[in-house]
Order: sequence, then C-alpha cells, then structure tokens
Amino acid sequence: MEVNQFSLPVDALPKKWYNIAPDLPEPLPPPKEPGSGPSRMEFLGRTMVHECLRQEASTDRWIPIPEEIRELYIQAGRPRPLCRAKRLEKLLGLKKVRLYYKREDLSPTGSHKVNTALAQAYYAKQEGYERLTTETGAGQWGTALAYGAALVGLKCTVYWVRSVYNWKADRRALMKMFGAEVFASPSNNTEFGRSLYEKDKNHDGSLGIAISEGLEDALGDEKAVYCLGSVLNHVLMHQTIIGLETKKQFELLGEYPDIMISCLGGGSNFGGFILPFVGDVLTQGKKIKFIAAQSEVAPNLQGEYRYDFADVAETTPLLKMYTLGHKTEMKPIRGDGLRYHGCSPILSYLRNKGYIDTIAYPGDEKRVFETMRLFVEAEGFLPAPESSYGIAKAIEEARKPENAGKVIAFNVSGHGFMDMVGFSDVLGLL
Ligand SMILES: *Cc1c(COP(=O)(O)O)cnc(C)c1O
Repeated sequence: MEVNQFSLPVDALPKKWYNIAPDLPEPLPPPKEPGSGPSRMEFLGRTMVHECLRQEASTDRWIPIPEEIRELYIQAGRPRPLCRAKRLEKLLGLKKVRLYYKREDLSPTGSHKVNTALAQAYYAKQEGYERLTTETGAGQWGTALAYGAALVGLKCTVYWVRSVYNWKADRRALMKMFGAEVFASPSNNTEFGRSLYEKDKNHDGSLGIAISEGLEDALGDEKAVYCLGSVLNHVLMHQTIIGLETKKQFELLGEYPDIMISCLGGGSNFGGFILPFVGDVLTQGKKIKFIAAQSEVAPNLQGEYRYDFADVAETTPLLKMYTLGHKTEMKPIRGDGLRYHGCSPILSYLRNKGYIDTIAYPGDEKRVFETMRLFVEAEGFLPAPESSYGIAKAIEEARKPENAGKVIAFNVSGHGFMDMVGFSDVLGLL
C-alpha cells in the first residue's frame, strides 16, 4: 500500500514554541516610539494581552506551551498531516522532485490562524478579561478569533472592513455561529467609526480604520482586550507549531527540505512554517532556499527596509520592516489576506540578510489560480486563495530542470470552501 499521508500521534504534539530571537546573528531592531504624540508602547500595554507582550520581547529559545493550550490544539485537530504530493508529481510528469505539503487547511475555521487565536484567547482568559476585540480584512482572522473565544468561554467583537463584510455572508454567519458580535467597519459602535459612518453609511472601510475601532473599543472597556493575527513576534512564535511538527515528520521520513515555500501577507504562516528550519540554517549550517509568494498589489518584501507604523491610524509603535508605506492603498484581490503594507520584523530582518527570496504574482490572479488548479485536480481539495500563491510557486519551482532531485515543501495555509465566488470570477467557472 502506498500512503501519501504522514501523521504524528497526538502525544507527539510539540510541547514548546520556538523563538528564533536568540539564534539570530544579532538582536532584532527593537520597536521604536515615533518622534511625536503619546507613547505607543504604553498604549499597547493598556490594550493587549500581557503574556503576549512579554513573549514579544522574550529572548528564551523555547517557550513552553501550557497544557491547556496543547489540549485546545488537539481539540482543533493537531498535529496536522504532512503529505507527499504523489499525484501532483505524476500529473506534472515529475520523476525526480519530491513534493511535500503541510495541511493547515484542516483547521476548523479553514486557516492556520487558529494556532495563535487559541493561545491569545487562553492567555486573555487567564488575565481575567471577558471579551476580545479585533479587526479583520479577508475574514479568516476574525473567524479564528471568534472560534478561540468560543472555546475558552469569552465574548468576541469583530470589526470587519465593510467592503468585504458585504460580500462574504457565509463567513459572517460562521463568526456569529461561534457567538461573535460582528460590525461592518466603519461602524456606529465607536467614536472613530461613527465620525466616518455618519458621513457615509456605505463607507467601504479599510484595515486601518477597523484596527482603530478594535483598539478604541478595548481601551474603553477594562474587561476587553485587543488581539492581532499576524506580523508580531509572538504571533509568528505561536505559529512555529506548524514548522516544529513538519520537522518531526521529515525526521521520521528520513527527508529534509531543500526548498520551502508559502504565501506571505504579514508573515505568520510563512514564518511559522520556516522558522524552525531557519534555526537549523543559522546554527547548523544547513542550506535551504526559502521563498515567499506575494501579490503585485502588496509586494511588501520588495519595499524599503525601514521603521514604519503597523497601522494606518499610527496607533502602534514603529517597527523595522520591509514596507510599502503605511498609507499605501492596495487594490482588492481575492487572496485578500495577502494585502498588507508591511512584513513581520523577524522575516524582514532575515530577508535583509539574504535568507529569503520572494516572488510577486500579477493582481488579476489568473496565473496563480490556473496553476493552483493543477493541485486541486491532482490532490483533490481546494486551498484558500492566499494559499494558492505558495502552491503556484511550488509547482513552478518543481518544473525547473535545476531542481531535479530536490525536496520541495510548501504550506497549505487554509482551505477555500468559503471563497468559491472569487475562484469562479477569476477562472470563469460558472
Ligand atoms: C491570513 C492568511 C494568510 C496571510 O497571512 P500571513 O500572516 O502572512 O500568514 C495566508 N493564508 C491564509 C489562509 C490566511 O488566512
């Protein structure tokens, strides 16, 4: 019997997250206060989960995962399988390349974001909060946090960019199913939102506006706390559960990747997948090519490496990152989760040192979805629009003659069952 799936037993779930900070050749450039206005660090201290902020600055290589969070991970279906893409290799006519993919699409809400949502929800509950607030753009993060809140018994309020809120009714219903309160942003529920909403009840909104609403809401209620789904160090660290499992799975198989690929918006799934392997490269002299797949509408890794705000409203400290500029407007795409102006500071640092390659695909998404479709035909399930970027790149790399004999690993960050409208539009399916 030929099996394509390599699963880990439940008791092999990693017990610690990996923090790459101590293995970097030098300390990461720290967050900075802008020259004017109130202290942004103090503001974050008042609006975010304290344990997360502690982890954000930690230099411990290993951070124990509390048993309760490990139970939640198992509840959410971890460990997740690593699969050999045998059927895709056959369809592509490849005889020498070995393709493997990690299945984060098997998450209950359809994306890897539950890995940090569960951790943040758990710590918030420990710290006595009763409600989580957040913003969401594509909707994956809002759904993951609504799920995390439901599992630990907290309330959840999501501010969702109106232009997306309006057309993703299924995902909105799913958030409500988990008991979350969901507002189209700008909303009538915060002062900042109201100032825009009253002028234009159909205001499209933006991620920046929604972040400002989530923060204002948390600031005005001492029982509420604000959560972020990507970019920050602690988020990438929670996501290393993906790469740590993958590493164990490769060990059991007697394989090791030569090339690792995933899509990158703010960097959480790419970082979670590769960082444990980057650690090997930095400390054991291993050689792996890491490639981040992006969209030409938000090719943040091709921006400038400098200090910039993480949000449009300038409420966050300045982070040293590759950025397109925090006021940049980006055209909507179907892989909306990839639309963010900056890349996480950890991955930006690694990119600046030459450890990470990048590709940006055209904004009409035809090349990405048409290439990804080969994966659907061969492997038989539908990845998220965002995940399609990494898959398309993996297929393109697999076809290069110079990669014969290589092991290529990619991460399927989510499923696309709630994004059929987008695929249909681009591929003309209906
Ligand atoms: C949010 C999201 C992304 C992009 O965010 P990262 O933080 O860069 O991982 C990618 N894939 C899926 C399925 C997402 O939900």
